[in-house]
Amino acid sequence: MYRRRMDANGAVTELMTTSGHEQVVFVADASSALRAVIAVHSTALGPSLGGIRFWRYPSEHDAVVDVLRLSEAMSLKAAAAGLDQGGGKAVVLVDDPDAPRSDALLRAMGRAIDQLGGRYIAAEDVGATPHDMDVIASETPWVTGLDGPGGSGDPSPMTAYGVVQAMGTVLEKLDGDASLEGKRVVVDGVGHVGTHLARLLSGAGARVAVADVNPDRVDAVARELGAEAVPVDGALDEECDVLAPCALGGVVNEKTIPRLQCRAVCGAANNQLGEPEDDDALAARGILYAPDFVVNAGGIINLAEEFVGYDREKAKQRTGKIAGTLRRVFEVARVEGLPPGRAAEQVARRRIAEEGAGRRFCPGDPAPWTNGEPLRSLRPV
Ligand code: NAD
Repeated sequence: MYRRRMDANGAVTELMTTSGHEQVVFVADASSALRAVIAVHSTALGPSLGGIRFWRYPSEHDAVVDVLRLSEAMSLKAAAAGLDQGGGKAVVLVDDPDAPRSDALLRAMGRAIDQLGGRYIAAEDVGATPHDMDVIASETPWVTGLDGPGGSGDPSPMTAYGVVQAMGTVLEKLDGDASLEGKRVVVDGVGHVGTHLARLLSGAGARVAVADVNPDRVDAVARELGAEAVPVDGALDEECDVLAPCALGGVVNEKTIPRLQCRAVCGAANNQLGEPEDDDALAARGILYAPDFVVNAGGIINLAEEFVGYDREKAKQRTGKIAGTLRRVFEVARVEGLPPGRAAEQVARRRIAEEGAGRRFCPGDPAPWTNGEPLRSLRPV
């Protein structure tokens, strides 16, 4: 995902002005010890959507910088995916992200989200559990991605499906043929998305190699698919057609780029580039970069289907369009002489500027999918 450099000491409203944020809400509830920040980057294309992250931050300012960066990235991801929604994010400041949260704290968070009247729609993110989301949803209808009737559930199979579609476009660009047959793909990280991805790639005839810090996961996937296991600290050095980062962010950086032996990078991980300039460094090495926020949009596309009545087949069809979006990004990159990451950002920003010019979503407004009716809820309360 694209990352803006933010002045670590900048005033919040200055940072908001620089990045074009509409609203930042600071939330504190003394009785439950809730401390949170909700950032609405843009509602130009529709209500803002993004996860709630429970995280331990060195300082409140770090939390603000993170939520601003993440919410802006959500606007770009939604816009590039052609969704009628904007970007938002929430962070809850906790001492231990793995420790269970009190229901009182979660309910207070739910009420804070509710007060935004649909300008911010929450989903699960790092540190959040399905239980957390259920308690938050008991206070507000503005929560998506829940299990149960009407919910879209685990997004990772759809994310993996989108990555495979993107990989087809990558191969088409490299070889003039989108087929995965016989191509060597290294899947670095076989958690939720990586495991589904390895299955789909194997089914498409690719030669799949897998790595993970957790050897049990590697063994399980290798056994199930007959995939090759590669050492986790050497995964980036593997000669392959496509490297698919599916674990942490920042794996493609000034230290690792000189080591890469792949022809392309196309995976699910968010924030794959250490710094924005790493996009240029990959291009200089002749490695084709498929921008992460275009490639991994299957999860958010899946969530957005809930708003119109979740239908997995329709979500899949829509996710399939990632192939065409990436084709357009590569074309913009070629025509404008940009590396693909910057071209993707330009595609997203242009859509927000052109289709969303002068627009903002306010509570009680119709949403793009409500046929002129006010958006009152995403589900029955
Ligand atoms: P996950 O936690 O289920 O899987 C991550 C895997 O990476 C785990 O198996 C973990 O052991 C492994 N891992 C951790 N550090 C590693 C390292 N240094 N090297 C190799 N493996 C390592 O997460 P996930 O849901 O599969 O998501 C994977 C990535 O994709 C994340 O960056 C996530 O933000 C991004 N993403 C996920 C979705 C989704 O639908 N789940 C959607 C968009 C983006």
